[in-house]
Amino acid sequence: MSEINTIGVIGAGSMGAGIANVFASNGYQVILRDIEDKFVQGGIDRISKFLDGSVKRGKLDEAGKEEVLGRITGTTDLKDFKDVDFVVEAVLEKMDLKQEVFKEVEGIVRDDIVLATNTSSLSITEIASALEDPSRFAGMHFFNPPQVMKLVEIIYGYETSDETVAVVREVAESIGKETVTVHKDSPGFIVNRIMIPQMIEAIKVLEEGIATPEDIDKAMRYGLNHPMGSFELQDYAGVDIGYYVMEYFEQEYGDPRWTPPVTMKNMMRAGRFGKKAGKGFYDYDEEGNQLPSEQAKNQEKLQGK
Ligand code: NAD
Repeated sequence: MSEINTIGVIGAGSMGAGIANVFASNGYQVILRDIEDKFVQGGIDRISKFLDGSVKRGKLDEAGKEEVLGRITGTTDLKDFKDVDFVVEAVLEKMDLKQEVFKEVEGIVRDDIVLATNTSSLSITEIASALEDPSRFAGMHFFNPPQVMKLVEIIYGYETSDETVAVVREVAESIGKETVTVHKDSPGFIVNRIMIPQMIEAIKVLEEGIATPEDIDKAMRYGLNHPMGSFELQDYAGVDIGYYVMEYFEQEYGDPRWTPPVTMKNMMRAGRFGKKAGKGFYDYDEEGNQLPSEQAKNQEKLQGK
């Protein structure tokens, strides 16, 4: 692998900013690209806030924080990627957009560098079909928040070369991540493929009136040792995200067992997108704290009482 010093990150949203932060914290230079200055700045502000938390916990000092921020250059111009050594993309989860972005990237970057996508569900093979050289392309799936979550799934597309996967693995390990290899490009890879049925089942347990969301979450925390219950996790990640993934799985696998439960459909219509909307399976106050008294009311509504 030729030496990798500068990483190009595309998209400065929740994942892009987090990924830029992880690379910069591990000594890499980062060029962070979004389409408007305000989005680039928003990403850098979120990184700064995250680093403030590390300073507060004594894990970093002010000088260390400035050093990390100093390694990140924001831009709206993709041409600034001409000398990067590796690219990770984290734009919106839309096939057309990702293909368009990578076509543009391929025309700017060096021919010998690896291009990776952080997609959570889209086909790596299909994104790569927009490239002249799909063998240099792989999935590099971080988890939210990337600064904290240890896992990176590395995914082969149909044409991905072993060399490309080896580079992605080396890069992921160099920032302290644990990696797993997904040998076949299939919807949900490993983690989401296993997690989505669990989410569907948790909603069915709720719909059947078997237990409250609070007790289902508690059961998962204490009975399975999961750090968060299914509803806490869905609210945290975005109820809308889970919904679209289920729809995508239903379409890709052609199997109704992936159909989003009716409760979820109604929540989508009601704008109950989770913590970011202040309401999901639970309700939240302005600081994002879960409101226990609202949970019961919410559950009664979900059960049509
Ligand atoms: P987000 O909406 O927070 O951020 C997306 C960013 O991409 C926005 O800032 C948007 O302005 C920017 N963007 C759009 N078009 C662009 C372009 N042409 N060039 C540069 N930037 C562009 O989304 P997110 O949650 O960060 O998700 C990004 C990707 O990461 C998606 O593919 C998603 O599936 C994946 N992912 C998300 C999570 C999660 O929990 N949120 C976890 C793992 C993977």
